[in-house]
Amino acid sequence: MVKKLFATTSFLLVVALFAAAPCTAQSEYLSGMKWEEPPVVTPGKTCGAPPSDAIILFDGKDLSAWENGDKWIVKDGVATVKDTDITSKQSFGDCQLHVEWSAPTPATGTSQGRGNSGVFLMDRYELQVLDSYQNKTYFDGQASAIYKQMPPMVNATVPPGEWNTYDIVWNAPKFKDDGSLETPAYITVLHNGVLTLNHFALEGITPFTEIPHYEKHGKAPIHLQNHGNPVRYRNIWVRELKPIVGVREREPYLHDHATGKDTPVKDVLKEKKS
Ligand code: MG
Repeated sequence: MVKKLFATTSFLLVVALFAAAPCTAQSEYLSGMKWEEPPVVTPGKTCGAPPSDAIILFDGKDLSAWENGDKWIVKDGVATVKDTDITSKQSFGDCQLHVEWSAPTPATGTSQGRGNSGVFLMDRYELQVLDSYQNKTYFDGQASAIYKQMPPMVNATVPPGEWNTYDIVWNAPKFKDDGSLETPAYITVLHNGVLTLNHFALEGITPFTEIPHYEKHGKAPIHLQNHGNPVRYRNIWVRELKPIVGVREREPYLHDHATGKDTPVKDVLKEKKS
């Protein structure tokens, strides 16, 4: 038994050594980039809880992070839409946004009149909030649609009274100096953990009456829509996205550990072509 255990352990050790050792038969690819170290972030303890670097927009206590927040009702850890839109005091560009919402019970109204609200990225691009549980409307106006531009891939809405989550990845549009569009806004949305929008390129702003178009802008607030329905919100947080910065120290190359020789990738590719 001891012998067998020793043999197994030895075998695993040999495998581990081979896996860790530089491969002498092949060259190693090296990017030539010197990267800064990704910062450590402590994830939330439970699903949907904010990670350590999140900016909390609503944690159930008050809406002090929002303009007009005092107009909505905050009770039992939940904020209910009333009378007006609310707008975050802070502005954001590229971000990850987590929002939880619940449609009113009992469900009243039909189509766009049932549990309508909205999450506006950068104050002008609406990700629709609607009670789309057994409630038909135009598809690019249902929950998790970019309003009037793109329906969600699936309808993942839960019944009124239950809580929906939106996990949003937002890439702000980029503009040239002359004000023209360089790259559109992109949005990815997980609705209750289900992918509904996959890196969708927005055509521009999303109002009911206007043709979608872009006008140059910088960072802007998030706003939540009052559409006359007492939709409820909780647990809203956002993370600003900062890509890791790298410095190119040299062009990509292959390093041969046996000979110590470096070969630029462009030379390898040239050789392959010829
Ligand atoms: Mg709406």
